[in-house]
Amino acid sequence: MKNLQELVLQAANLLSDAQYLCVLTGAGISVESGIPDFRSPGGLWSRFDPYEYATLSSFYAHPEKYWTMAKELRTTLKAAKPNPAHIAVTELEKYIKTTVVTQNIDFLHQAAGSQNVIEMHGTYRTSTCIECRASYNWREVERLLDKELPPLCTKCSTGVLKSDTILFGEGIPVNVIQSAMLAAQECDVMLIIGSSLEIQPAALLPVIAKQHHSRIIINNLEPTFADSYADIVLYEKTGTILPLIVKELKKIRLEI
Ligand code: NAD
Repeated sequence: MKNLQELVLQAANLLSDAQYLCVLTGAGISVESGIPDFRSPGGLWSRFDPYEYATLSSFYAHPEKYWTMAKELRTTLKAAKPNPAHIAVTELEKYIKTTVVTQNIDFLHQAAGSQNVIEMHGTYRTSTCIECRASYNWREVERLLDKELPPLCTKCSTGVLKSDTILFGEGIPVNVIQSAMLAAQECDVMLIIGSSLEIQPAALLPVIAKQHHSRIIINNLEPTFADSYADIVLYEKTGTILPLIVKELKKIRLEI
């Protein structure tokens, strides 16, 4: 069995040969930024039953419940800053053409400086009126939340706002799925970070990548279904491991 340093070197070598990298991220990459994953004990779903607070039908039935949960999550998101793993992804972008496909809704890849990010599950950064489709930025929603819950649209005065994230039971826009699938088809390395790969359609992306002969690197704390066909699997905190991989990649590139 290879030790971690050998795996880091192997990952850096794979990346140094890559022409097009797809980085697929999940909640795990943001845990070290202070955003717990939702399913762990103490996570969001232990306090707010997702069937009651985070489905599309529960939103329409009780938007105030949704916003009680969303308001708490927004406090966590507001305090979060990109961690060394988010920064390391931006470093990789300097060497390899990269698309980041994230399941996260926290905007931390963009805050770190990533240029090409597909947000499969949307974003908390903006919200939209469900009636007139007027768009609101973070600060505007903050002001409305200080006044009332759920926040109402000030443009049409009747609609309720909804964060631009995908709720359970809500479809992901087709163009978003298509872009993510294209990245999985065209990349020659897929780097998967901090995802249990239990949520579809994101979990399909490694399968598509493999079918198109991409190499697969996984960095997660626990096994996923894709480990069996991954080229390299690193079970270590991503804020520790990704900067090490970038460091080795830089050494290789300087030697060339
Ligand atoms: P998940 O919670 O199912 O899995 C997270 C994985 O990350 C776990 O397998 C865990 O072992 C791993 N992990 C935890 N800390 C890690 C670390 N420091 N380094 C490396 N790996 C680590 O997450 P998922 O697959 O993204 O699916 C959950 C859903 O919840 C997604 O839809 C996502 O949108 C949403 N979510 C988003 C955020 C966010 O935006 N930051 C946070 C929580 C949940």
